[in-house]
Amino acid sequence: MKMVTVVGARPQFIKAAALSRVLRKEHEEILVHTGQHFDYGMSQVFFDELELPRPDYNLGISGGSHAQMTARMLIAIEEVLQKEKPDALLVYGDTNSTLAAALAAVKLHIPAIHVEAAARLGSLSNPEEVNRITTDHVSSVLFACVPSAMEFAQKEGLTTNLFLVGDPMYDAFLYYQGKRKVKEITLTDLDGTTHPVPPEYTYLTCHRQENTQDEETLRQILLGTQGLGYPVVYPVHPRNRATALKLKEEKHFNDILFVEPVGYLESNTLVSNCQRVVTDSGGVQREAFFAKKPCITVFDYVAWPETMVGGCNQLAKPLAGDILEKSKHKPVFDEGYKPFGNGDACKKICEVLRDVDLGARMR
Ligand code: UDP
Repeated sequence: MKMVTVVGARPQFIKAAALSRVLRKEHEEILVHTGQHFDYGMSQVFFDELELPRPDYNLGISGGSHAQMTARMLIAIEEVLQKEKPDALLVYGDTNSTLAAALAAVKLHIPAIHVEAAARLGSLSNPEEVNRITTDHVSSVLFACVPSAMEFAQKEGLTTNLFLVGDPMYDAFLYYQGKRKVKEITLTDLDGTTHPVPPEYTYLTCHRQENTQDEETLRQILLGTQGLGYPVVYPVHPRNRATALKLKEEKHFNDILFVEPVGYLESNTLVSNCQRVVTDSGGVQREAFFAKKPCITVFDYVAWPETMVGGCNQLAKPLAGDILEKSKHKPVFDEGYKPFGNGDACKKICEVLRDVDLGARMR
C-alpha cells in the first residue's frame, strides 16, 4: 500500500523512526514534515540520530496561532495528498500537524491511521486534547498504546478498527538503548557556555502551554524542582525560551542548568542516569517509567494513568510546595507490569495493516 505519513514535532519523529523502519519493509511511505518544529535541536537531530528517512516534502509551516498554523497545514497537506493519491494517511499523537493531516485526508476520502490514538486528559482547555479527539473521530484505524486509551475509545463509541498494540515510544526506547550508547554529554547553556553533566541531578523538562505561558507558574515549578536537593538539568523548549531566560536572570536559580534541547539519545541517557525526573511531557514521563526512575509530572491532568501506580509517577500541581510534597513518596516498580507492551507495537501495527478493512468507517 502507498502511505503518506505526516510528522511535524519532536515526539512524532521518534515514533516515526520506530515505525518507519518496520513499515517500509512492506509498504511505500512518503514522509511529509510540516515544519512545526524546525530548528536543528528540535528536528534535524532526530533525523540524524534515529536514522529517520529524509522527508519527501518539507512544508515549512510553523508559528502563528493554533488556527493559523492548522489552517496553513490543512491547505498544504491537501495539495500533497492530491498529488500523491495514497491509499492511506498515517499520523501520530496530538499536535496541530496531526489534526491538519487527518482532516485533509478524510475530506478527500483517504483513510487516516492514527497511532497513539484515544489518549485523553478529560479537558478541552488542553490544546492537544482537541487535536486528539478530532483526529480519532475522523480516523479509520486507531492504534491505542495502553488499556486506558481502549476504555476512552469505547466510551466515545470508537470501536471500529480499534487495536491495542502497545507504545511505539517503548519500542524506540528499547531499540535505541540496545543499539546506540551515548558516551559523554556536553550540555550547552542558553548563554552558549558548556557544562558537563553533574554526577547527580534532577532532569527537568517543562514546556506545556499551561505551565509556561504565565511566568509565575514556571517560577514555582523551577523553585520546587531546585528544592529537591540536586542540581537540575533543564533543556529548555524553544516555546518558553524567553520566559526561561528571564527567570534565569533573576539569579534565584543557581542550581539549575538552563540548556539547549538535547537529542533523543542524550535525553534518554539523562533520564536513565538521573536521581529523579520532573516533567510535563507525555513522552518524558513514559521514558522515566521505562527507565524505572521516580517521576513527578507537573500538570492538572493525568495523561498516562498506567505510569501512576506504586508512586512511580506522581502528579503535582504547578506549585513549589506540591512538587516537594510529592517527592516524599518512594516508588515501587513492579517488574512484571508492562502496560506499554513488549517493544513490539510497530510489528503489531504492521500485522494489522496487512488485512484491515481501511474503508470500514468511510462507507
Ligand atoms: N526530548 C529530547 N530532547 C529534549 C527533551 C525531550 O529529545 O531536550 C525527547 C524525549 O525523548 C521525549 C520527546 O522528546 O519523549 C517528546 O518531546 P516533548 O516533551 O516535546 O513532547 P510530548 O511528549 O510532551 O508530546
